[in-house]
Amino acid sequence: MSHSSAVVHATKAAGAQRGDQHAAPLLEVRGLSVVYDTASGPVTAVDDVDLTVNRGEFVAVVGESGCGKSTMLFGIAQLLSSPARVCAGEVIFRGQNLVTMNDAQLAPVRWQNLSVVMQSAMNALNPVKRIAAQYADTMKAHGVRNKADIRRRSEEVLAMVGIDKIHLESYPHQLSGGMRQRAMIAMALLFEPELILMDEPTSALDVVAQRSLMLQIKELQERLGFAVLFVTHDMSLVSHFSERLLVMYAGQEVELGETRRVFDTPAHPYSKGLLEAFPSIRGPKVPLVGIPGAPPALSAVPPGCRYEPRCPLAYADCTTVEPELYEVNGVKARCLLYSPHNRPPADGAPIDPAQVPVPASATLLPVEATAKESER
Ligand code: ADP
Ligand code: MG
Repeated sequence: MSHSSAVVHATKAAGAQRGDQHAAPLLEVRGLSVVYDTASGPVTAVDDVDLTVNRGEFVAVVGESGCGKSTMLFGIAQLLSSPARVCAGEVIFRGQNLVTMNDAQLAPVRWQNLSVVMQSAMNALNPVKRIAAQYADTMKAHGVRNKADIRRRSEEVLAMVGIDKIHLESYPHQLSGGMRQRAMIAMALLFEPELILMDEPTSALDVVAQRSLMLQIKELQERLGFAVLFVTHDMSLVSHFSERLLVMYAGQEVELGETRRVFDTPAHPYSKGLLEAFPSIRGPKVPLVGIPGAPPALSAVPPGCRYEPRCPLAYADCTTVEPELYEVNGVKARCLLYSPHNRPPADGAPIDPAQVPVPASATLLPVEATAKESER
């Protein structure tokens, strides 16, 4: 996917009244599906995703590379371009369905209320323009004409992310990787959005810079009160920052729930596998294990559960019966273990995720990282 601009915003749209907006979720994604039209037919990269983000909430989306996280984010922001397209579903943002709006209708919605921070600032910022000019272009495009106002706001947002205003005169390449990401986040803040969609904004940084940027994002989110939908492949990164967590696998939502709960008692075997694959920031040293195998090609997903070929807990039904999202212990998990209709071989009471045995490590292949150990 290529996207030319780093940050896209959305304006204070005309629309629903404020009173109503407070009761309803800020963002409600219903049955969102996105396909890529390829030579051999449409490939579904995002499959029937339901998700809400409340005002001021920090929701994280995790999953391996290629599982559809970016596609989903761009599908929400209506930033997909050919060959990708939303083929089903609604994206209700502040009471309006973004999917059915045209560019002219989206333009005002896309600055002041909703902004997007892309993965790579280097690709997203214009390399031949100073930061000041990029901020000014953005503000002018949305009706701010007064030079002094533009200057003042540009300095303000840079200060918010801890960058000296002197760097308004810098070109992107003159900033460090961490500063570029901060400059992009500052740009996303120009219009005080209510929601910022972030696509792996820290993944190009070293661990120390990553951690400090996460702390800064969290501090800004709490202080300014915007909501965040944060995509990452690193589950441990968001453990302390997000309130709710969506785990995606092969284009589908496989677990959704309160972050703390998913970390403490992951319901889906894939969530469990992901947790064991990344070092945590604190806690005892534990050997890292990876999940054997690779996700299926989205053009050829297996029947039954998409995770079955890699799942240490799979049983016969998993190869034929497609799991739905089941409620279990206050979270939703797409796993037959929790289906009221399909019981694993020894038919029994509903399964408690805390009681699901952790598979013997013999069934999990060690990754190279096993040599290192989690520092926590
Ligand atoms: P993530 O952000 O989770 O790494 P993406 O959303 O980038 O995943 O991609 C999800 C899937 O969409 C990929 O696994 C691939 O199958 C498909 N995809 C991405 N870009 C294209 C494209 N240009 N043409 C066809 N399929 C694509
Ligand atoms: Mg991505």
